[in-house]
Amino acid sequence: MLPLKDMENFVEKNFDQAIEDLFRLIRIPTVTAKGGHNSAQAISELKRIFNELGFKTSTAETKGQPVFTAVLDSNKSKTLLFYDHYDVQPAEPFDLWTSPPFEPEIREGKIYGRGVADNKGHIISRVFAVKMLQELRGELPVNVKFVIEGEEEVSSPNLGEFVEKHHNFLFADQTSCIWEFGGKNASGFQEIWAGVKGICYVQLKTMGPKKDLHSAYGAVVKNPANHLVAALDSLRDDKTDKILIENYYDTIIPPSEELLQTISKIEKEFDEEKLKTVLGVKEFIHGLTGMEMLKKYYLSPTCTICGIWSGWQGEGGKTVLPAEAHAKLDFRLVPKQTPEDVIQKLRNHFRDHNFNVEIEWFEGYPAAFTPLTDPFVQVVEETMIEVYGHEPWIHPWSPGSGPLHLFAEIPVLSIGVGNAESNAHSPNENIEVEDFKLGQICIARLMEKMA
Ligand SMILES: [Zn+2]
Repeated sequence: MLPLKDMENFVEKNFDQAIEDLFRLIRIPTVTAKGGHNSAQAISELKRIFNELGFKTSTAETKGQPVFTAVLDSNKSKTLLFYDHYDVQPAEPFDLWTSPPFEPEIREGKIYGRGVADNKGHIISRVFAVKMLQELRGELPVNVKFVIEGEEEVSSPNLGEFVEKHHNFLFADQTSCIWEFGGKNASGFQEIWAGVKGICYVQLKTMGPKKDLHSAYGAVVKNPANHLVAALDSLRDDKTDKILIENYYDTIIPPSEELLQTISKIEKEFDEEKLKTVLGVKEFIHGLTGMEMLKKYYLSPTCTICGIWSGWQGEGGKTVLPAEAHAKLDFRLVPKQTPEDVIQKLRNHFRDHNFNVEIEWFEGYPAAFTPLTDPFVQVVEETMIEVYGHEPWIHPWSPGSGPLHLFAEIPVLSIGVGNAESNAHSPNENIEVEDFKLGQICIARLMEKMA
């Protein structure tokens, strides 16, 4: 094992170059939701970064954005695979950013820019962990592979096909995987996420008159916006937060004793007030607190209106009866639920309740997780105790989502360089310089420990 001091020295000595690589990547606005026009540029940047370290790189075309892969075969028995993504969320609203989203900068110990936390900062810190081992040890203790896709922020529609085609490359014997995101929580503790919830995202539409009408006709013409609101209201009881779609909870299995124990361990150190401050909320739903709040956070599926629009949205009044109305909804899924099943139940619900709602499109994937008894969990935990000086919180899965189910045949854990105020998907996205540095040491040490 390398002395920690040597690793720290490496990080300091190479800091400017790491930041240079990171900034070059952030300056490319890889917003796939807006067409992904910059993928080629991002991939050529990745190629340069990985080729410099001797990785064999390749680009797999898909129906959407290409998937970039890099492999460094050290002829070792174990392999560490990284799943990352080069695409980012749209940066709007721009005026809420202190510095422009695609012009990264460091202020007061934090690195700002769209994608720095989600997930370009992770990519670069992992790359420099490899560089560290090459320079300080002369070789890598494990084989290293990276899969960096360009459609994570739009639910990875083509990753499944890629994984199927490259199954042997990805899941070679004794491969473990580090997932894209992670970091420290509001209480300052590092975290390990052992999985993710699934997601089902839908766009709904209701239709009324063939064009917007004078709202005087509201007396006699059915309003599609009112109809949509009624349909949405029928999905969830606001008093109990129960999802009212028939048989919705049928497939869900009750939590095991072990799972409840994991959550109660988190509860002991959980700083509820701090999280409320970070989130900017006065209380959690229905005043939930302690174990009850955490159980709901981890174990409940959700039904969330993400956006809703119809009729006049501009300044001042305009008395119209709109021609159509739309809403976007997401359902976070717990293990055993599938997006297809949710869509079927949603269709049945609208039909049985006489709601004339069209499902315009949907996308999503199921939940997936690594059992906490897997030996990889222990190796990662021990590494983090050594590097960060405290026991990380271990979560059974993240209440967020990702296409982790595609990798579920190998152990997959999420750790990283973010923090509770990283503002992923929001203005002023950032990571702390200190975490960016420690993240490199953590990954390098993990590779040593794996071997
Ligand atoms: Zn994201």
